[in-house]
Amino acid sequence: MSGAGRKSLGGIEVGGRGRFSFFCFSLRKVPCSDSLGKMELVNLTRRTAIGSNSYWLKIGGKNVILDAGLHPKLEGWASTPDFSLVPQGKVDAILITHAHQDHVGALPVLTRREPQARVFMTVPTARIADVMLHNSVNVMIRQREDAGVSEYPLFTHRGVEFCTKAWHPRPLAKRFNLHGDPSESNSDVTFEFFDAGHILGSVGILIRYKGRTIFYTGDVNFENQTLMRGASFPEGGVDVLIMETTRGDSPVPLGFSRANEEERLARGIIRAFERGGSVTIPVFALGKTQELLAMLWQIRLRGLLATVPIYIGGLSTKISGIYDAFASTSVRSHPELQVLQEMAPYVLSGNEIQTISPKKRCIFALSSGMMTENTLSNIFCRRIIGDESQSLFFVGYSDPDSPAGKLRMAAIGDMISLGGGLPPIPLRCHIEEFQFSAHASREPLRKYAVLLKPSKIVLVHGDKRAIDWFQLALFKELPDTAVIVPEPGRAESLS
Ligand SMILES: [Zn+2]
Ligand SMILES: [Zn+2]
Repeated sequence: MSGAGRKSLGGIEVGGRGRFSFFCFSLRKVPCSDSLGKMELVNLTRRTAIGSNSYWLKIGGKNVILDAGLHPKLEGWASTPDFSLVPQGKVDAILITHAHQDHVGALPVLTRREPQARVFMTVPTARIADVMLHNSVNVMIRQREDAGVSEYPLFTHRGVEFCTKAWHPRPLAKRFNLHGDPSESNSDVTFEFFDAGHILGSVGILIRYKGRTIFYTGDVNFENQTLMRGASFPEGGVDVLIMETTRGDSPVPLGFSRANEEERLARGIIRAFERGGSVTIPVFALGKTQELLAMLWQIRLRGLLATVPIYIGGLSTKISGIYDAFASTSVRSHPELQVLQEMAPYVLSGNEIQTISPKKRCIFALSSGMMTENTLSNIFCRRIIGDESQSLFFVGYSDPDSPAGKLRMAAIGDMISLGGGLPPIPLRCHIEEFQFSAHASREPLRKYAVLLKPSKIVLVHGDKRAIDWFQLALFKELPDTAVIVPEPGRAESLS
């Protein structure tokens, strides 16, 4: 949101005690559902957690699907949303908030089932999603061969090409209808994209129909990152808010600032080099890699780490190229920065990662961020975690059950298994953690919800503890608002 918007959020004082309720006690006069047709939401994901995202919105007699993600921890069809809940061939439009796998990974499965549906996303999201989905086919084929997952691949390269034919990229801040045409008509279901500040191309979606409004945040960040600027979201006029809750489980540490964290990272890298080794940073290929390269660029501008070689993987390079292509036309800081040209990272091939030694005074920024089996970071880390001169830095979220999550909880000397049936390794390397999340922390999200004061809030994209925190916080501050945690497969009224 804009600077002015953030100030108004910061200035909110809300108190009072309310009843926690699953019913709406809005004081505002809203049109009755009979005159509008029913508005319902069905959570198509198979469990309430951070995982796949897909929500079926029934509005104005139309069927709209918000996001079509894959669950990163599950395999085969279990990782997809349950699209069988939607009558086949009846979807009118699919809207994708951004190109992370948990939001777009199952789109070829959905468009195969619903070829008549138009798919809307931003132009950068379309460019990135194309790369991510083709990469996903390669990963699934490898998993079929290596791990014997017989259901893979869930779709093919041709399936992705078929899927992309239904895509209709749309710009920010332009209202369009189910056909993708501009529309201000009150009787059309219309959509409008608002920049979400999460990764390149990410948006929240405002849905309007007959004077009612629903706003779906997707994944959002209200603060500036190094490249992405904070979200520009609507500051009022929202009846129903569908909100992500990723970071609801923990508060921001006292005195935290991104600038301090960047300084801590610079000092951490210098100290790691003094210990005689390299720094390995597991990062997501999409988003975190580009933010990290931009941070390292800023550190270099200060005259530090000027000649340090940086290694990244092939997918990260492709995505970084797209960030560079949209540098001057997207909502971001440093529009002049071309990260690939400025940082000239060395691109590791799949073969090189099997043999390269960790060396000294290098930075290895390798995906995946959670060190999933068979990824560059997982393979490479086998060579460093038993070496006390080497350093391993974590800069984002890791699922506690992932190899990265296990390493973060381990102590020196613990035997660590990185999977793949290989023997455990005693942990000897130096581990440090930094906080550069691309998700809003819980306080700005809570303030945003309070600012909007919608009649209903639907909490999604969070683990139980995170959702519990938001339920309690919103119950206290918005006693007239119904707070819904949509159970998978159950229709929730939004009218
Ligand atoms: Zn995301
Ligand atoms: Zn997400």
